[in-house]
Amino acid sequence: MENPKILVVDDTEENVEILNELLGEEYDVLSALDGEFAIEIAHEDSPNLILLDIMMPDPDGFEVCRRLKEDPETENIPIIFITAKTDENSIEKAYEIGGIDYITKPFKPKELMAKVKRELKLQELYRQLELSATTDPLTKLYNRRYFTDTSRQLLNLARREKQRMSLIMLDIDKFKSVNDTYGHKAGDEVIVSLADTILLGKRKSDFACRYGGEEFVVVLPDTTIEGAKELAEKIRENVEKKTIETEGRSIAFTVSIGVSEIDVGKEANIEAGLKRADEALYEAKKGGRNKVAVRNI
Ligand SMILES: [Mg+2]
Repeated sequence: MENPKILVVDDTEENVEILNELLGEEYDVLSALDGEFAIEIAHEDSPNLILLDIMMPDPDGFEVCRRLKEDPETENIPIIFITAKTDENSIEKAYEIGGIDYITKPFKPKELMAKVKRELKLQELYRQLELSATTDPLTKLYNRRYFTDTSRQLLNLARREKQRMSLIMLDIDKFKSVNDTYGHKAGDEVIVSLADTILLGKRKSDFACRYGGEEFVVVLPDTTIEGAKELAEKIRENVEKKTIETEGRSIAFTVSIGVSEIDVGKEANIEAGLKRADEALYEAKKGGRNKVAVRNI
């Protein structure tokens, strides 16, 4: 993994050098000697953290912070102020305008390093929390809960735009026997491999999720049932062509796919569409697997 990037902003060159030396061993340090340049770097390099001097010629640290917090592109970059100002009003203001911490000059190196570490650690935790709320850990596709929320929004959008919307439901054929024959680790690899094939085959606007154990759903905005069938057929073929190598063995597998369309004008959510796709999927399985089946509205 890349080192976290820290932007150091101070109009005194010596201070920048000291911080550079202190932080440089563990982090990628960027530096700016004035506020305007700091804002530019914040935009271009998206640092993970900014250490910001308050007393600088125009714009001073408070102004730089205010402008970064106003801009959606930079508002989430945490800012720690470093300053010789220790009066209560300055400290209060630093927090008010969005600083997350405050270090007084002359700073103690160990204290500074501890605060930087703590902040970066917190950030990483937030990132993981956000990811785990929306994503399936094995495949990195969206999870079912996030899918349910998002598909509702996609359907509302389709209704407003008077567009059609379809979906496909995929299930790995005889997955239990993959697990029984090759073990659960290989089973997981098969699931990940299918997720990758779906991601490669889908279009940018399509929304894919891991719906259950070996079951996946893709919502296809602005797509007719014929278009959905074509995409499903392409994915089915790509899965069939692929073999995965694990622990010296090759595993080939297939998928069955059910295709349906949402009645955008009449249906309030995608539940009925999912049910039709599920029925089509059942037909595909019954018809011998490794097939695409369609269920019209
Ligand atoms: Mg200064």
